[in-house]
Amino acid sequence: MAAFTSEEIKRKISQIPRRSFILLPTPLHKLQALSAELGGPEIFIKRDDLTGIGFGGNKSRKLEFIIADALAQGADSLITWGSLQSNWCLQAAAAARRFGLKPVLILFKTNDSSEEFDGNLLLDRILGADILIREGRKGKVVRLEDAFEIIEEAASGLRAGGHRPYLVAVGGSLPGGSMTKPLGAVGYLEAFVEMLEQGREQGIGITHVLHATGSGATQAGLTLGAAALAEDVKVLGISVSDEREIIGRDCLAIGRALDELLDLGLHPTRSPFHIFDEYLKEGYGIVNREVAEALRLVFRLEGVILDPVYTGKAMSALIDLAGKGYFQRNDRVVFFHTGGTPALFPNRKALVELLGPKA
Ligand SMILES: *Cc1c(COP(=O)(O)O)cnc(C)c1O
Repeated sequence: MAAFTSEEIKRKISQIPRRSFILLPTPLHKLQALSAELGGPEIFIKRDDLTGIGFGGNKSRKLEFIIADALAQGADSLITWGSLQSNWCLQAAAAARRFGLKPVLILFKTNDSSEEFDGNLLLDRILGADILIREGRKGKVVRLEDAFEIIEEAASGLRAGGHRPYLVAVGGSLPGGSMTKPLGAVGYLEAFVEMLEQGREQGIGITHVLHATGSGATQAGLTLGAAALAEDVKVLGISVSDEREIIGRDCLAIGRALDELLDLGLHPTRSPFHIFDEYLKEGYGIVNREVAEALRLVFRLEGVILDPVYTGKAMSALIDLAGKGYFQRNDRVVFFHTGGTPALFPNRKALVELLGPKA
């Protein structure tokens, strides 16, 4: 017996203020040709790349709650940070503009991609976001310690000019700054409910969910969704940014905050957070051959475009796990397409080199 019904969870989520501006529900459909190519498991895709704002992606689900919080606090601007080609920063900036907030982005260079206006950085520029660029650590995701001073500086500058900035951490995941609640994870708890209902309508009988994991709210929300509604569904996070211990710690912190916020009484521990860090390889944002090939395979077979930093890595993991017999042949795995496609273009050089001159 599940701890809750979908209706009960939806009722709890409806207590959290939100601004609805994305296209929900996102489609859930089968990847028939890919499933056949791999010889099992049966693979389905949840199209969170089609949320309809700023090229789509998982951050927009989070932002429906985060923007509502910023507006409730009377903010007139939003400060956040990420890597130079951050999907989060673009979607946050797009959502901020949509509601009249001025976006201020602190972007760290974490790989060799140039400061040319390309991919997400071009879109940030078109939106007219205030952009500050800083050196980051190569192949490493940006953490609060790296960004703290400069964020404080940017925030006090805005305050001195009479503005009211809303500060939110990279990815919209960990509570901190102006966002005191795990609002990002609320979006992904809801996504789990949405997926489960679609799975029931389509008679799928989902056994696994697999997705790219970074700042933790996607995994925390989905994992608590499984704990609340469908304990037999296993949520697998493929790390693109950090070792298992670090992501696990963040997921647990966010999961506990979500449990408390919605009074779920699930008392999460480390054990339901399944994190794979063996696909990190060269590090965050560094494209490798397996990723390039996974991207090509899915585009060719299904016409679906993945991105080279997150979803391509997660798909390369799915393919590898399927090949190793991790899944039963008739398991039904939902791959969450969490977006990120603008990052294809600034990675053109690596992709072309890895894929070679011809088929
Ligand atoms: C941010 C991001 C993720 C990871 O989501 P988190 O909630 O930060 O773990 C996955 N895929 C894409 C494309 C992203 O931009």
